Amino acid sequence: MRKKIVAGNWKMNMTLEQSLALIKELKEELQDYQYNNTRVILAPSFVSLSAAVNETSKVNIEIAAQNMSQEERGAFTGEVSAEMLAAVGVDIVIIGHSERRTYFQEIDAGLKAKTKAALANNFDVIFCFGEQLEDRENKKHFEVVEQQLKNALFELEAEDFGNIILAYEPVWAIGTGKTASADEAQEMHAFIRSILAKQYNETLANSVSILYGGSVKPNNAAEIFSKSDVDGGLIGGASLKAKDFSEIVKAI
Ligand code: PEP
Repeated sequence: MRKKIVAGNWKMNMTLEQSLALIKELKEELQDYQYNNTRVILAPSFVSLSAAVNETSKVNIEIAAQNMSQEERGAFTGEVSAEMLAAVGVDIVIIGHSERRTYFQEIDAGLKAKTKAALANNFDVIFCFGEQLEDRENKKHFEVVEQQLKNALFELEAEDFGNIILAYEPVWAIGTGKTASADEAQEMHAFIRSILAKQYNETLANSVSILYGGSVKPNNAAEIFSKSDVDGGLIGGASLKAKDFSEIVKAI
C-alpha cells in the first residue's frame, strides 16, 4: 500500500528557538494522532536540523533537509553534503523545489545529480516539479511535467523509486493562495502515474507516493487528499502554524 505523507516545508523561516517551539506545539496537537500508514515530515532550515531530530526522537515525526549538495565534500563554500546531514540524523531531502529552480537557477541536470547523490547515501528524496501558470494557460502543463520528470529521474533504476516521493507543485499555486482544484490535482497525478507506468511498470507507478503542493490549507486539504492518486501534500505556509499543519495531517 502506498504511504500517505504530509510534509511541511518551512523554507527560510524560524530561528532555532522558534523551530523547537513549533515542534513542541505540533507534538501536542498530534499526541493522540494514530499515524498508521501516514508519514509526517518537517523540513526546517539547516541550522535547526540537529535539534529538530532530537526534539522528534520519541515521536513519529521525521525531519528532512530542504536542499543538499550533489558533491561529496570539498571546496564548495556554503554547501551542505549528504554525509553532513546523515551525521545529524537526517535521511530525507527535498530536491527541486520551484523556489530553488527560480531563485537559485537549479536546472534538471543538477537536480538529477542531487537526486543520485541523495539516493547513493540512502536518503528518501521528495522530488518537486510542476508547471508555470503560462504553461497551464497554453495547455502545455502535461508536456512540461513529463519533461521535468524525464530529465531528472527517468535514468534511475526501478528500485530507486522505493526512495522517491514525488511532489507535484504547480508553481502558480505555491504561496499564492491559489490552489489547483482537487480534480486538476487528480488529473495530473493520474497522468504522472501513467508516465511512470510507461517508463517503468504499473506496479512501480502504483507504489510511488505522489504529493500535491500549492496553498494547501486546513479548509481545502480533505478535498484534495480525497482524490485517489493524491497521497498527501507538501505544505509551505500552513506548516508554520501547529494548529493548521496538524489539521492538515488529520485530514489525510
Ligand atoms: C511549498 O513551499 O512547497 C508550498 C506548497 O507552499 P505553500 O503551501 O505556501 O503554497
